[in-house]
Amino acid sequence: METHILGVSEESLRLAKEYIAHGEVVAFHTETVYGLGANAFDDDAVLRVFSLKGRPADNPLIVHVHREYDISRLTDGEPSYAAALRRAFLPGPLTMVYPSEGKVSKYVSCGMNTLAIRVPSSPTAQAFLKAADLPVAAPSANLSKHVSPVTAQHVFDDFNGKIPLILDGGRCGGGIESTVLDCTGAIPQILREGLVTREMIAKIAGECGVYRPRSGERPKSPGMAYKHYAPRCKTAYFSAECLEKAITYYKNEVNTGTPCFLCESAVCALLKGYNTLDLGSSPEEMARRLYALLRKGEQQASLLIGIEPQQRGGVMAGVLNRMRRAFGVEHGTEEG
Ligand code: AMP
Ligand code: MG
Repeated sequence: METHILGVSEESLRLAKEYIAHGEVVAFHTETVYGLGANAFDDDAVLRVFSLKGRPADNPLIVHVHREYDISRLTDGEPSYAAALRRAFLPGPLTMVYPSEGKVSKYVSCGMNTLAIRVPSSPTAQAFLKAADLPVAAPSANLSKHVSPVTAQHVFDDFNGKIPLILDGGRCGGGIESTVLDCTGAIPQILREGLVTREMIAKIAGECGVYRPRSGERPKSPGMAYKHYAPRCKTAYFSAECLEKAITYYKNEVNTGTPCFLCESAVCALLKGYNTLDLGSSPEEMARRLYALLRKGEQQASLLIGIEPQQRGGVMAGVLNRMRRAFGVEHGTEEG
């Protein structure tokens, strides 16, 4: 199968609609990362997404709909705080988990009685979802455990020859996956941190918890049991206080390979003369650049050395969570 990368046009949307209606899988731009979408009503199409990615069968998918879609068609009720959050943040990088049974293919939620719903703000995603005019189940468009894709080329690199179409909307401006929020309980609870932060949610809903699975417990978000975002090269990870140690590590690698640091701008400035990839300065910039730099790093370096950024708060919770997992220092969440 030939894989075409096309921008939004009458022709590409017609093709996308046709592919989705016939059970094919289509990749599409969103404001967070690229998604790998299939008709959420079609068992075989949904199962194809799992097999294409090599995704574990117990890690549920998020259903994407366009902004005019009546999501009450997909849910079994909605707490009042969820309605307020929906009005405040959708369309946007917030996925809301609702009580829901039997509304879409049972494979979407892996047999659970909840459904994760997202309304992306990307004009490309909106045009695609409007054309498809049905709920599209879509995880990130990367092979399972690999780094999430933020350009059409990244998707192509993982799925060339395996899917017919990538709807190109340019580079994703958000850069890390959506916040996943459990809206089935008395108060909202974050299952995965992202660009819509706990502080932002609490401001609207009054309260917001962050779910941390206790050891041995089956996690609420089954994907939380998997390793994620791994670049395909050797990795090491240091705090900024241990920069001297990191430099020693770098120097040991120089004899046999190509080491490279991945760090924020302030630290890059201290590492003149070494190979560096610059994450930037603000939390939003670091979110936007992280995945593209992890993919660049795995291509250029035999050893990628992450230096933990020192900023905290807001979007940094999501950035640090992705970065630590990419470098294998924090397990117990997210599969790709
Ligand atoms: P991805 O689309 O690859 O970014 O992964 C989707 C994330 O949403 C994973 O962490 C899933 O475990 C989570 N998720 C999807 N559906 C549900 C659900 N019904 N309940 C809890 N978490 C979910
Ligand atoms: Mg993913």
